[in-house]
Parts: sequence; C-alpha cells; structure tokens
Amino acid sequence: MRRNKNREETQQNWFAILGLVLLVVVLAGVVHLLYHAEFAETATPNDCFAAPASARATGETAVPKVVCLTFDDGPSAHTPEILAILEKEHVPATFFVCAQDANEAHMDKIADIAAAGHQLALHSATHQYSKIYRSTDAFWQDIKQLREALSPYVDADALTWLRFPGGSTNTVSHKYGGSGIMKRLKAQAEERGLHWIDWNVCAEDATASHPNAAQILRNIQRDAEGRDTCVVLLHDTKATGQTVKALPDIIAWFREQGYTFCTVSAMNDLQK
Ligand SMILES: [Zn+2]
Repeated sequence: MRRNKNREETQQNWFAILGLVLLVVVLAGVVHLLYHAEFAETATPNDCFAAPASARATGETAVPKVVCLTFDDGPSAHTPEILAILEKEHVPATFFVCAQDANEAHMDKIADIAAAGHQLALHSATHQYSKIYRSTDAFWQDIKQLREALSPYVDADALTWLRFPGGSTNTVSHKYGGSGIMKRLKAQAEERGLHWIDWNVCAEDATASHPNAAQILRNIQRDAEGRDTCVVLLHDTKATGQTVKALPDIIAWFREQGYTFCTVSAMNDLQK
C-alpha cells in the first residue's frame, strides 16, 4: 500500500511539473504573439529591429518612448545647419549617406558628422534605382563604391548599418532586378554582417509637393501618433531647406511627448 501511495505521489508530482512546463510554454507563446502584433502594426514592415510591446498592450507603464531622427541622401550644403541644431539641442541622429555628384562638394562634412558623435550609416553611392537594383552584384558594387568615397573621412569598413534606397519593401527594384531582388539583398546583408532599417514615420520632406516646415511637422505628428518607437525619415539635400527650418520644432515636439532621442544602433542595443 505504502509503495502504491508513494508511486501515486510521484505521479502527482510529475503531473504538477508537466502542468507548469505547459503553462510556461503557453505564456511564452502569448508574449511572442503580443510582440508580433505590435510589430505588424508598423506601416513599413521591418524585421531588423524589435519594436517593444506597447505599454498599453501589456498594462505596464515603464516602456521608454524612443525616437531616432534619420537623415538620408546627405551630406549637403544643409549638413552644417543640421549639425548645429542637433548640437544645440543635444540630440544624437543617424545619417544614411550617399556619394552622388550632388554630394561631392560636401564629402568633408562626413568627418564633421562623425566628430559630432552621430551615427554614420550606408545608403547608396549613386542612388540610381536602375543601376543598384539591376542585380545583387550591382547593389554590392555600389555599396563598395560608397565605402571608398567615405574612406578618406572615416573608417568606412566599420559602418554596419544600411538603409536600402526606397526602403526594403520598395517595388521599383522589381522592374530592374526581378520580384525577388529585395529578399535576396536582405539575406545577403545579413550574411555580410550588416543591419538594415526602414522607417515608420515619414516627414515627406523630399516629395514633389515640397511641403513647408509646418507641413513637415504635421506629417511627422500624424505618423508618430500612438507609437512608442519612432524612426523618422528626413532628408539632408540641397532641396530640403524646410526640413532644417522644421527641425527645432520637430525636436521640441518629440521632447514634449516624452521621447528620448537616440541613434539607430543605440536603439537596437536598447532592445536586445
Ligand atoms: Zn534616399
């Protein structure tokens, strides 16, 4: 009898342990689902950085609100003004730079961007979709050309962040490299140890409608609504003087909303 009882107790213990294991597995599944529900909400799908589960979804209040200001297509004649505003406001930013003809006279500002402590990242040498998306080889050749153009000013081999021209979900590339080109490029970026990132807040400051500073701020406020993690797409070109004009107000608005500014790589480290 005693032996049977012991066996029963042992069996009960095993059932309890099994129950606990099942509970942990189910809970892990729920957390995973919540995470992906948040992730799926971003307008631009991006599996390169993890958006934290929102405070509202989990009922917690400790999730920090983070914003990354990102400037594409520079350097330009406006880079010094952008750097001056960022320095005055103590705001770090990320610059996805190019080496097109329009950038040529401003390449020395690459060193200024780095010296000010901002993150330098890769965008494209030529930024011509018909060239860079013709094939994966053509794309990486363009990135090699960009690194060469940057190398007099910074350690270009140390740059590990990339933004695909047109974003990782662009379809314009299909016309030149077929419908699978972005998928192949994303896989190859990973193989090369590169991180890539899109954006989920668009200033629309480089569109044909040429919005003024007030409209640029409104575009940002519209896209940032309800997001705890914002990656803001801005531009640093000859044509985006209104972006410079809007920048102090953009910074003030995110600050009022309780966001912390950081670079893209710092945000990625925060979310590990
Ligand atoms: Zn661009």
